[in-house]
Amino acid sequence: MSATSVTFPIINETYQQPTGLFINNEFVSAKSGKTFDVNTPIDESLICKVQQADAEDVEIAVQAASKAYKTWRFTPPNERGRYLNKLADLMDEKRDLLAKIESLDNGKALHCAKFDVNLVIEYFRYCAGYCDKIDGRTITTDVEHFTYTRKEPLGVCGAITPWNFPLLMFAWKIGPALATGNTIILKPASATPLSNLFTCTLIKEAGIPAGVVNVVPGSGRGCGNSILQHPKIKKVAFTGSTEVGKTVMKECANSIKKVTLELGGKSPNIVFKDCNVEQTIQNLITGIFFNGGEVCCAGSRIYIEATDEKWYTEFLTKFKETVEKLKIGNPFEEGVFQGAQTTPDQFQTVLDYITAANESSLKLLTGGKRIGNKGYFVEPTIFYDVPQNSKLTQEEIFGPVAVVLPFKSTEELIEKANDSDFGLGSGIHTEDFNKAIWVSERLEAGSVWINTYNDFHPAAPFGGYKESGIGREMG
Ligand code: NAD
Repeated sequence: MSATSVTFPIINETYQQPTGLFINNEFVSAKSGKTFDVNTPIDESLICKVQQADAEDVEIAVQAASKAYKTWRFTPPNERGRYLNKLADLMDEKRDLLAKIESLDNGKALHCAKFDVNLVIEYFRYCAGYCDKIDGRTITTDVEHFTYTRKEPLGVCGAITPWNFPLLMFAWKIGPALATGNTIILKPASATPLSNLFTCTLIKEAGIPAGVVNVVPGSGRGCGNSILQHPKIKKVAFTGSTEVGKTVMKECANSIKKVTLELGGKSPNIVFKDCNVEQTIQNLITGIFFNGGEVCCAGSRIYIEATDEKWYTEFLTKFKETVEKLKIGNPFEEGVFQGAQTTPDQFQTVLDYITAANESSLKLLTGGKRIGNKGYFVEPTIFYDVPQNSKLTQEEIFGPVAVVLPFKSTEELIEKANDSDFGLGSGIHTEDFNKAIWVSERLEAGSVWINTYNDFHPAAPFGGYKESGIGREMG
């Protein structure tokens, strides 16, 4: 299966985009001969067609990964680390192109894609350093015995990823699998397979042996389900919606696979009156409008202290004015903060939530409309004084829509912040560090950011409470 030449809109740059399935270090056609369209959400035009894997292709990938596992698991850890570092070096050389591919395919603003690529490179380096630091224990039993534990790889692992952070999720799955001596088959979201396939060319160039990494774009119900059902796949790492996460867990139970689930969120971002106002407003914006709000841990429920009515109203006014200055549009244009929503379905879902909110007479602070009539652009939108039990407060919208809820006491705040099926991210904004720690210890959230938001580091674990998932990634 050959590569195709793709031209970026606006900047007129051309590169070679692989469009095959990546199995055994080769790009191959799907056995069925089926392909699917990959469009850009920027203007809805076709970028290219990609081969569509199904059960037959997954079987071939599992055979390749099983064969590779026999040698990869015994490859010395420092050598595995060198491969991962080499991959990070090659990605570093191509960081601008990788970011552009991601923006073209996903619609995210270029600065967001650059943020992702940087974290991906740092994360592969972190995993490279981890390879030779995986130790067991010696256990004191009695003098006749020498007892010890060893941490061993599982074998062939499966991974299924969403479309909001295609390259980042690829790294979060591939990095740890390879560092720990496993081989892997990854299915990217069919909306956004391009950066993953391009990175496969670098995996091959880095010398990572054939069959260690296999990437099979395809549908969830077809290709994804074949991964879940395959008896030789010993673990599945899934990132996506809570709804599909429940299916993943049920399917994996049939062959007692281990599972890691990174699912949805509806994260509280909390503002106390004693915060640094300018910095807090920037953090609220990063919390909900970074990546067009397509962030699992987006700070979409904004709780603001309203013990002083005047301060509360002034804060809302400043927040509104700052948001209205954000530039929305073509991800490649200078100064654009927010690009396009990634898929037509998700775009429509976001607009439907806004319509439902308007119909129930929720108070709109700013935004609420589609921008233009080509591409999936939505204004950054904020509703305020929203009831705790409203659909907008309780459900994950997964777009640039925030709700503001006032609170009068810390006890009321904690109760409301934890009143959610989810528990992924959270933020606290205050100059009183004792208060921040006190509140953070009472929040049911995998991450609590204090006076910052969406701040990631490879060494810091990430994952959820409650229906936001099982297990931790990174760290
Ligand atoms: P999704 O659940 O629809 O799809 C995720 C992946 O699962 C895709 O690759 C899809 O093809 C596949 N899939 C769908 N149905 C399947 C099935 N029946 N069997 C096997 N695979 C199937 O999610 P999405 O819309 O791509 O992503 C958005 C969701 O992901 C949001 O809920 C978001 O919060 C969540 N997310 C979570 C994290 C995290 O780290 N917790 C990170 C990013 C996104």
